[in-house]
Amino acid sequence: LGGSISRAIQQMSNATIIDEKVLNECLNEITRALLQSDVQFKLVRDMQTNIKKIVNLDDLAAGHNKRKIIQQAIFNELCKMLDPGKPSFTPKKGKPSVVMFVGLQGSGKTTTCTKYAYYHQKKGWKPALVCADTFRAGAFDQLKQNATKAKIPFYGSYMESDPVKIAAEGVERFKKENCDLIIVDTSGRHKQEAALFEEMRQVSEATKPDLVIFVMDSSIGQAAFDQAQAFKQSVAVGAVIVTKMDGHAKGGGALSAVAATKSPVIFIGTGEHMDEFEVFDVKPFVSRLLGMGDWSGFMDKIHEVVPMDQQPELLQKLSEGNFTLRIMYEQFQNILKMGPIGQVFSMLPGFSAELMPKGREKESQAKIKRYMTMMDSMTNEELDSSNPKLMNESRMMRIARGSGRHIREVMEMMEEYKRLAKIWGKMKGLKIPKKGEMSAL
Ligand code: GDP
Ligand code: MG
Repeated sequence: LGGSISRAIQQMSNATIIDEKVLNECLNEITRALLQSDVQFKLVRDMQTNIKKIVNLDDLAAGHNKRKIIQQAIFNELCKMLDPGKPSFTPKKGKPSVVMFVGLQGSGKTTTCTKYAYYHQKKGWKPALVCADTFRAGAFDQLKQNATKAKIPFYGSYMESDPVKIAAEGVERFKKENCDLIIVDTSGRHKQEAALFEEMRQVSEATKPDLVIFVMDSSIGQAAFDQAQAFKQSVAVGAVIVTKMDGHAKGGGALSAVAATKSPVIFIGTGEHMDEFEVFDVKPFVSRLLGMGDWSGFMDKIHEVVPMDQQPELLQKLSEGNFTLRIMYEQFQNILKMGPIGQVFSMLPGFSAELMPKGREKESQAKIKRYMTMMDSMTNEELDSSNPKLMNESRMMRIARGSGRHIREVMEMMEEYKRLAKIWGKMKGLKIPKKGEMSAL
């Protein structure tokens, strides 16, 4: 999705005369991309209609920055689609609230329950976890393990098979213990689908949740709308959490989930660990959906990991777009220094999927080190040139010999460099936002 959308925008910006035809072409392309990404047809059509209303062709003809006008309109429209217009119920510290988690098996409920509890615990809340999944063997153990790790009280049973009973007992117990955030984890599977939804209805009736959170895997795609709607029809879903945003999926299904439940996305899951959990922020989410990289997330991370005095220079280089081999070398150095590789740079355009596939961090690290060894055999002229033609075969042969690698590997590295240079070329002139500030376009 991201690729095609940015391609569409790119094509658009190359056009010298932007008229209705071009606008339509661009919209059609984006429409196709959104449909491919399994966003519901109706939502896509709505977006298309709205964009046409917003983008006034006369203004466009007169405007200096046509590209920006259209980009901004598409960006805003996608943001609007993620905003149901009213905030979700927000629990208050010190006042007992019950929060029930629903979603299909494997969507990440149990993991997310703990993350949600841990997140609040760190802020001084007294959370507790109730395991009302009696369907899957091992469900209680999983919750117990997570809860123990985070030192969060939990309730569940190996013997009792009635989830409604356990849920009610757990909630009652923790209310007595003055917990202010009682989290009910539920099952996501049943012998029959209808039985699952009936069970959710009963658990909800027994626990009277203040908030029901629908948990969805970012990669569910087309199924998002129906799934979310099915849960919404049996329980009062009031918020959405999108998990596994650390993977390849851009989470386009979130648009469907918001539309189906009329509820906002409140958090995203970005990994298997307890602290890989972030408050949902619509702008970086949409930027990512559009393939623009998550600048604000990146900025937050970079403020954590790069020493203050090194930041301006690095950021300046990142935005200049004259992507030389030396800049690539310095970025590699940073990547290796920054620790959890891929975490930080997975958000930086171009540095994610191809260069550092998730789950293959060790290999990626080795590859980066290999590239750096080869670059150590380059001359200053080669490192500082942004002309890829400079690197002819005899130069590559020399570099290969000098670093004890095969010329094929030097060529591979140059391909990688060209790929990154192309991406960064597009970023030229990009305003680097300050911490906490977001300038997506
Ligand atoms: P449940 O069946 O809905 O309770 O789902 P679980 O919480 O058991 O999660 C299913 C799998 O997804 C587990 O292996 C989790 O570690 C994994 N998982 C959950 N959230 C995330 C996430 O944000 N990122 C990644 N990478 N994995 C996740
Ligand atoms: Mg579970």
